[in-house]
Amino acid sequence: MQIIQVHDLHKWFGKLHVLRGINLSVARGEKVVVIGPSGSGKSTLIRCINRLEEFQQGRIIVDGIPLDQDLRHIDQVRREVGMVFQQFNLFPHMTVLQNAALAPQKVRRWPREQAERKAMELLERVGIADQAHKYPGQLSGGQQQRVAIARALAMEPKIMLFDEPTSALDPEMVGEVLDVMRDLAESGMTMVVVTHEMAFAKEVADRVIFMDQGEILEEGPPRQIFEQPHHQRTKTFLQRVL
Ligand code: ADP
Ligand code: MG
Repeated sequence: MQIIQVHDLHKWFGKLHVLRGINLSVARGEKVVVIGPSGSGKSTLIRCINRLEEFQQGRIIVDGIPLDQDLRHIDQVRREVGMVFQQFNLFPHMTVLQNAALAPQKVRRWPREQAERKAMELLERVGIADQAHKYPGQLSGGQQQRVAIARALAMEPKIMLFDEPTSALDPEMVGEVLDVMRDLAESGMTMVVVTHEMAFAKEVADRVIFMDQGEILEEGPPRQIFEQPHHQRTKTFLQRVL
């Protein structure tokens, strides 16, 4: 069963054709890492999967729900898909616990106690329960990103999308965030991760996708992509980042 199906997806920003016929299926529990040069359409692709971006052509089906013009479908998909961004986007005026407990109250109409209980569990899971009553500004970048992961998990998503979750972090904080993501992967979560962390990709990905100029140029198991890429453009990219 493919939990994400993308068929012949095209996206334009004005005249700029940024996704040029993307076909992608992700199986339940699969970990897909997306790599590629800046501007190749990685963020746009994963933002289309929870409809943070509109698209003009093609089809996307998430867990059987088509992302069409029906707003109920968009809501349903967003409940199933958690997203973590490069910038953590926490609310600065709310505590860590309030940040992590917010979405289930708003979207699922959980009572505050239930949402906070769940949020506490998740803060424990990402190793940050002791910071629950602080404000985001009092935390390091790595801690804030772990809160952002807990916040996304509070909605009990079936799929987690990550867009360069460690790119804004000081190097010494990258590891703690990748550790949380590795645990999540081991728990069986379906994950699509845009990252330049090639060691993480090698270890965690079932499949690596190389995007260039709005297309998937090649894909395969990490070993194949990293050790025997077929395309010159993949080789050139990997030489720059590895
Ligand atoms: P990547 O994540 O691989 O760096 P993006 O998906 O962010 O690439 O961008 C793909 C292309 O779309 C780039 O040329 C970028 O400048 C353009 N783009 C992205 N977002 C917008 C936007 N909101 N408006 C106009 N152009 C955009
Ligand atoms: Mg991007």
